[in-house]
Amino acid sequence: MKLIETSPDVYRIQAIRAVFDKEEISYHLNNEFLAQLSGEIPLPDCYAEIYVDDVDYDRAVAVYEKFRAEPSGETWKCVSCEELIEDQFDICWNCETVRSD
Ligand SMILES: [Zn+2]
Repeated sequence: MKLIETSPDVYRIQAIRAVFDKEEISYHLNNEFLAQLSGEIPLPDCYAEIYVDDVDYDRAVAVYEKFRAEPSGETWKCVSCEELIEDQFDICWNCETVRSD
């Protein structure tokens, strides 16, 4: 299996998972529940992870890149790393910069 993304934000991992469900790509999640505690246990070991099978990897990456390029709903752009962040979050999931506007 190959890692697609690791994130302290379990909702982001779940959003990716929903896209994979739709595209019928099989995946495996790690730390889905542990990540919810990561505010109290700030360790990358607790971050949620999503993996796909090697055979699905190329297709999964294509779907994932499309997901990243077309965020659903309102977004804001991180001033530090230029990642697009969903409106309900006030901190960049990628670099933890606080929203400035
Ligand atoms: Zn950022």
